[in-house]
Amino acid sequence: MVQAYIGLGSNIDHPVDHVTRAFYALDRLPSTRLIGRSALYLSSPHGPPNQPDFINAVAVLATALAPLALLRHLQAIERRHKRVRAPKWGPRTLDLDILIYGKILCHYPQLIIPHPLLQQREFVLLPLGEISPELKVPGNGKVKTLIDRLDRVKKARVNRLP
Ligand code: ADP
Ligand code: MG
Repeated sequence: MVQAYIGLGSNIDHPVDHVTRAFYALDRLPSTRLIGRSALYLSSPHGPPNQPDFINAVAVLATALAPLALLRHLQAIERRHKRVRAPKWGPRTLDLDILIYGKILCHYPQLIIPHPLLQQREFVLLPLGEISPELKVPGNGKVKTLIDRLDRVKKARVNRLP
């Protein structure tokens, strides 16, 4: 079994529900157990500013799925969450990213691990730091060191929900 860290995000159609249900879906993946999870965080969106804030969190899995198989399962969960109450497919409601997979570094066309934007994303690093501050990001520093390098303005864009 390998420890894999998954980043969860949602900003449409009851984001807290999507992220909460995603934890359960992760725990039910084949050959996989959910062994840790962060609190939920509210974060200001990157990109276009005229969209709702995000709910973000990080899950820790113990999994026997290989990285590409894990990605396929995450994408299947994302697809199941895309349905809104209206009959047509709604906008994206859940994003699941593989942040870290054991000690590996990989660079497939469809999958880069560790996630290439991890070190600049406050909404990933702060929840990750809550559960694993001492974790060494393969090819990079410890989580807490990466958090120290974030500027104050970025850090202020993420708030842990009570
Ligand atoms: P984003 O996560 O940047 O908001 P998407 O979820 O639409 O965007 O992902 C775009 C593509 O990123 C996916 O089709 C996937 O193949 C690729 N990808 C590359 N590395 C990763 C990773 N570590 N975790 C998840 N997806 C990844
Ligand atoms: Mg994604």
